[in-house]
Amino acid sequence: MKMQSNDSYSTEVWQTMDAAHHIHAFVDQKKLNAEGPRVIVKGEGMYLWDSEGKRYLDGMSGLWCTQLGYGRRDLIEAASRQMEQLSYYNMFFHTTHPAVVELSELLFSLLPGRYSHVVYTNSGSESNEVLIRTVRRFWQVVGKPSKRIMIGRWNGYHGSTLAATAMGGMKFMHEMGGMLPDIAHIDEPYWYAHGGDMTPEEFGLRCARQLEEKILELGSDNVAGFVAEPFQGAGGMIFPPESYWPEIQRICRKYDVLLCADEVIGGFGRCGEWFAHQHFGFEPDTVSIAKGLTSGYVPMGGLVLSRRMAEALVEQGGVFAHGLTYSGHPVAAAVAIANLKALRDEQIVERVKTDTGPYLQRCLRELFSDHPLVGEIQGTGMVAALQLADDKATRKRFEKEDEISWRCRTLGFEEGVIIRSTLGRMIMAPALVASHAEIDELLDKTRRAMDRTAQSLG
Ligand code: PLP
Repeated sequence: MKMQSNDSYSTEVWQTMDAAHHIHAFVDQKKLNAEGPRVIVKGEGMYLWDSEGKRYLDGMSGLWCTQLGYGRRDLIEAASRQMEQLSYYNMFFHTTHPAVVELSELLFSLLPGRYSHVVYTNSGSESNEVLIRTVRRFWQVVGKPSKRIMIGRWNGYHGSTLAATAMGGMKFMHEMGGMLPDIAHIDEPYWYAHGGDMTPEEFGLRCARQLEEKILELGSDNVAGFVAEPFQGAGGMIFPPESYWPEIQRICRKYDVLLCADEVIGGFGRCGEWFAHQHFGFEPDTVSIAKGLTSGYVPMGGLVLSRRMAEALVEQGGVFAHGLTYSGHPVAAAVAIANLKALRDEQIVERVKTDTGPYLQRCLRELFSDHPLVGEIQGTGMVAALQLADDKATRKRFEKEDEISWRCRTLGFEEGVIIRSTLGRMIMAPALVASHAEIDELLDKTRRAMDRTAQSLG
């Protein structure tokens, strides 16, 4: 019998109604309408169910966001209690409310001491929109208004709104009305694809030094900041060589360019530290957050500022003409508090560092090092990528890598596991609460999808 998400509608009816009105994310809508989207009706723990009753192990935490998995009572009850108490109020009109005050207190108890203030948003894209204006405002306030240019990386992803798209490095997004002036890009530190004969460490230094060249080309008096994900997520889950971040840090300090970490997916325990920059050992001036802040139960994000920036903006800045209706939304704040307390009090981040993360990484390498399709395995904590390779010895990538990785993702769905394909790499980022048994299931099903992909290539 078909499982229906309410008494009246079948999968086909949901699909038909969806096709009539809904434009989906990053998809050829006409094709999707013809095929019909999967209708997800229920989530619990690590699992999702579709309207046909099929169960999937969610190996992607939704979109890198459900740190605690689905259906946690404490988060649901926190939202419900807050709605009863104060369902909405804003941060305009010289007001605040207890939920947002308590959240800020908790957030800064988890962040390193060099940060002191946060601007709340509703998404990762908004956090990065706020970033560009806040960084430029900072330089105005400290008397260097010519510092306006943001440097990002090719294939970086910072969201889908205008400034976030422009700072990101997805050329196909720029071409769809997504570019702005005063934005520049340098190469991504993707050794497997672009490292040639260099060692990863040599290549990491070379990529980092492109930042110095770009700053010198543009003039350091004109460059406001460098924005990058500690590990590049949507652009292929690229982990830079170890030489990369220390050199980037040195260059930013030398030229007084703000180092802006986009931790929208790296934040809140993904790498086994509260923030990914702690894992990679650098000290950004700003940290963009979202996703794992609420485990995706309700939308919330933010831009975290260093003391240096906050002091200038607060003490010297006067009015900053900025504000969002839902900044610091009380229901989102209440859910974020419950989420952060669970991550902290149940030692979930520590477990990712010392137990489940190493287990996932070890098993992944045991299972896939010899796989005929896999040229490289990267990852740490609860995030990993399998590089598809046509010829492992020469690091040759498949010409049709998008098609092949897409097939593997579809076979994953058939096997009952959700993994993602991006730029010729299969990626996974399960919820941080995954048990050893759930990690085993994730990897076994992924292995079956990979084996079937290999067989399909003959
Ligand atoms: N920054 C990074 C690194 C992301 O991965 C994403 C989304 O995946 C965003 C920003 C945008 O976040 P949102 O989709 O919440 O706007």
